[in-house]
Amino acid sequence: MSGQIPQWSYSRLTTYEGCPKKAYYSCVKKIREPGNKYMERGKEVHKNCEDYIRGHIEELPTAQLKDFQEGFDLLRKMYLEGSVICEGDWAFDKNWQSTGWFDSETWGRAKVDAFVHDASVPTQARVIDFKTGKYEGNQESHREQCELYGAVVLARYPEVETITTEMWYLDHNKIERYIYNRDSIKARKEKINERAIIMTTAEDFPANPSSFRCKWCYFGKERICPDRYD
Ligand code: SF4
Repeated sequence: MSGQIPQWSYSRLTTYEGCPKKAYYSCVKKIREPGNKYMERGKEVHKNCEDYIRGHIEELPTAQLKDFQEGFDLLRKMYLEGSVICEGDWAFDKNWQSTGWFDSETWGRAKVDAFVHDASVPTQARVIDFKTGKYEGNQESHREQCELYGAVVLARYPEVETITTEMWYLDHNKIERYIYNRDSIKARKEKINERAIIMTTAEDFPANPSSFRCKWCYFGKERICPDRYD
């Protein structure tokens, strides 16, 4: 049975868990939040990374990206060899089997910045997520995001036994790395699956106001939400 938000992504899930009413405005009422300068910059940086890996530009354009020169050079080389997918859109059904992004049975979605799978080492793969902005304070949710990537890859690629997930913090010259196999991902996948079921079957979307949450919430700022914390 599906609720009013039948498809999930990690970002939707965290929005819902933070404040169900915010998810209601965004995903049920489909009120679009305007972008901001941080989001615009994030998009631009991602585009630069992708363009470099695909060989569309010859140089990494900023000093921050140049801190990762060696890593990007390797991705670029492997992309040309056919071992890297950039900006992959991965969708799956309730059994975590691959679907098309807009298929009617699609239940979950994940976007991947770079996926590395070398045919000569089919049992191993890597997922890389490029992060801009803050490093401190986000590690827990970024680790969960890596668990989701791990679960999706291991469901999608039966030959893969070990998946390495990496967060590249482009503004901080740091990499966090988490490695999973079929045993270690099992309980993590079940946990995120349960959370996603709760969101995708929800019919009620109560407000969960707090001074911090409402301060940064578009629906509060615009007075769309009558429950905002004042
Ligand atoms: S203003 Fe606060 S209570 Fe209302 S939707 Fe936003 S976060 Fe939730």
